[in-house]
Amino acid sequence: MIIQLEKEIGADELTGIELKLNEINFKSRRVTTQDADYLVCIGKEDFDIRNIGNLKGVKDIHRVSDDYKLVSKKWRVQESQIDLGDGVSIGNGAFQMMGGPCSIEGEENIRQTVEQLAKSGVKIMRGGVYKPRSSPYSYRGIGIEGLKLWHAICQEKGIKIISEIMEEKKLEEMYPYVDIFQIGARNSQNFNLLDAMGSIDKPVMIKRGMSGTLDELLYSAEYVFSGGNEKVLLCERGIRNYEKTYRNCFDINAIPILKEKTHLPVIADPSHGIGLRRHVPQIAYASAVAGADGIIVEMHACPQKALTDAKQTISFEAFEEMVKKVELLRGVLG
Ligand code: PEP
Ligand code: MN
Repeated sequence: MIIQLEKEIGADELTGIELKLNEINFKSRRVTTQDADYLVCIGKEDFDIRNIGNLKGVKDIHRVSDDYKLVSKKWRVQESQIDLGDGVSIGNGAFQMMGGPCSIEGEENIRQTVEQLAKSGVKIMRGGVYKPRSSPYSYRGIGIEGLKLWHAICQEKGIKIISEIMEEKKLEEMYPYVDIFQIGARNSQNFNLLDAMGSIDKPVMIKRGMSGTLDELLYSAEYVFSGGNEKVLLCERGIRNYEKTYRNCFDINAIPILKEKTHLPVIADPSHGIGLRRHVPQIAYASAVAGADGIIVEMHACPQKALTDAKQTISFEAFEEMVKKVELLRGVLG
């Protein structure tokens, strides 16, 4: 059960609610986010919800049978919309493309990409400055100085930044320069990192774990939301199976299922989802048709030369065509 509290709730009113919860053996946890104040209540006993709903200080109340509560659509039927400022929003009908290299490589790479995004009318640039790599000898990213440069160039052009944070201790230095923090597949259940994301007021996109279930992804989102940050996005990026002909198995089913279970926006990542440049646009189209609220794609001026994930990185020309076709498809679907 979730109780949304009145904004100016008094101590007596709160005690009154807590006493009632004690009577029915429910444990509660207070959650204060940017938007509201909640009591998330856990218990098994049957009770008449009106006995709590009628109490002073209660603004709204719902039974939520799912184990995740605040991110559940049983609590909030209306889809959430995340506002990135400057007229850029995601969710509840607002769709965004995001494009950029797997890793930020330097000034020329940033400038070329920003120019292409502007040409395609895309407002969000992706790129890693700290990269999770299977081998410690592989390229691990340009680091904070690269992020600062990237941010300065994007500021000039009105482009927003999405970038992966791999560890809590990098939060302070990255914070001023990132518009959406990405939690990578390998950190999808790094609960300390998720707790840290709950303490900030900037949007966080959580990727599905390499072999994560949809419920596990929703629990990860619940960590951030219940930590106090309502600005959470989910990302389907493919899961690992026994098939070797592609990199990951993009789970198209995840999109309608997640959208049914949660009010949070759902983003598709076809690049990691299939891992093969020539097929990325098709998976992007399928995602748009399946109801994604946004698509994030790896692109590069010279894809075969990209420092990381070259095999799945598309060209600027392919990106431009893809953006146009996604728009057309969304138009057809209304
Ligand atoms: C990435 O976005 O480049 C990335 C590393 O993604 P994932 O965490 O999904 O593997
Ligand atoms: Mn990548």
